[in-house]
Amino acid sequence: MARLAQTAGLTEIQEEILSTVRTFVDKEIIPHAQALEHGDTYPADIVEGMKEMGLFGLTIPEEFGGLGESLLTYALVVEQIARGWMSVSGVINTHFIVAHMLKQHGTDEQKARYLPRMAAGEVRGSFSMSEPELGSDVAAIRTKAVRDGDDFVVDGQKMWLTNGGSSNLTAVLVKTDEGAEKAHRNLTAFLVEKPEGYGEVAPGLTIPGKIDKMGYKGVDTTEMVFDGFRIGAGQVLGGRTGQGFGQMMDGVEVGRVNVAARACGIAIRAFELAIEYAQQRRTFGKPIVEHQAIAFKLAEMATKVEAAHLMMVNAARLKDSGARNDVEAGMAKLIASEFCAEVTQEAFRIHGGYGYSKEYEIERLMREAPFLLIGEGTSEIQKTIISRGLLRDYRTRG
Ligand SMILES: Cc1cc2nc3c(=O)[nH]c(=O)nc-3n(C[C@H](O)[C@H](O)[C@H](O)COP(=O)(O)OP(=O)(O)OC[C@H]3O[C@@H](n4cnc5c(N)ncnc54)[C@H](O)[C@@H]3O)c2cc1C
Repeated sequence: MARLAQTAGLTEIQEEILSTVRTFVDKEIIPHAQALEHGDTYPADIVEGMKEMGLFGLTIPEEFGGLGESLLTYALVVEQIARGWMSVSGVINTHFIVAHMLKQHGTDEQKARYLPRMAAGEVRGSFSMSEPELGSDVAAIRTKAVRDGDDFVVDGQKMWLTNGGSSNLTAVLVKTDEGAEKAHRNLTAFLVEKPEGYGEVAPGLTIPGKIDKMGYKGVDTTEMVFDGFRIGAGQVLGGRTGQGFGQMMDGVEVGRVNVAARACGIAIRAFELAIEYAQQRRTFGKPIVEHQAIAFKLAEMATKVEAAHLMMVNAARLKDSGARNDVEAGMAKLIASEFCAEVTQEAFRIHGGYGYSKEYEIERLMREAPFLLIGEGTSEIQKTIISRGLLRDYRTRG
């Protein structure tokens, strides 16, 4: 094996999709990523290109106009895109999670209404659980929906919505009073339709401006403020209240594979940049790659890239088989995001002083990698999920 992150056993269609995406990334994303990222500019042309390739409908069933591809195909596509620019994968990620939740949990009417337009990229999804006071502790959600005739009235504040301004359909998890003892049984997911943009986009619904972030630029991340916002009971995902926690966690499980794939993509790119630079830069009369300290760094980086890729592929295949993959997705997300941070840091060191210059791509990757330690649950939360899952199978009896 020479090339990193190869995947055995792909179908011809999967190979074809990946090859098309790889070419798109090399020609349309990598050459523009630096300028767009430094300008915090939404990658409108790239998004149009992705629409044309059908990527917004990649996993949506064919009967609804999508390509009906698996989570594995999706994850490998995301890995390629993140290799080009992680923000672009962020544009499709929340869309993909919402499409998955609709496909798995939506009523027939909701599927027919949204999935075909989502496949075409006309309806674009975002996903909202976090609030100013909570991220990891989802059951503590405070934003509330109260029944009023055929409607619900929503009040509260959401935080950290990726694509909050550029999407027009948001799956929002809020509290409804089900009288259940366990807090997470009192949560309901609503499908909030809204116009794109900022300000008071609908009566009682405001999307304040973009949050200014350290990296992950270009893609918008926003708050969402509800103040007496009315929404019809028909917009409850799946039609029944109190089911939202499980529905969102199902979405997050596929989202974790996606974050792992993004981490793999960034790590692959960091490795590519490092091995190229290490052969060009000379010190003490020879290319730095000929110093064993640098060569060993590259060997360790490549091993981490390979391990993360294999675990990500395993988690995706498991979910595709219909099995629950909470532990494997948690492990993949944990190892891929931690290794990504380490590989990126090593690539940065190999670049010496130039790694600190905005002219070099590694500077951007250094600001992007930390987000993957946080998004879709921090490393501590992954370890909690993994250890709980282990005790399901390894608990001692008696
Ligand atoms: C750029 C960006 C985009 C995002 N996009 C979205 C989005 O689209 N939709 C969305 O809903 N959310 C989104 N988020 C929110 C993200 O999911 C949360 O930030 C994340 O889950 C962590 O929550 P928190 O920030 O509230 O941290 P906290 O939950 O307050 O955690 C703070 C620290 O405490 C640790 N900690 C918390 N609980 C425990 C515990 N039980 N045991 C040990 N350690 C613990 C955490 O690991 C962390 O180190 C986004 C965040 C960012 C930064």
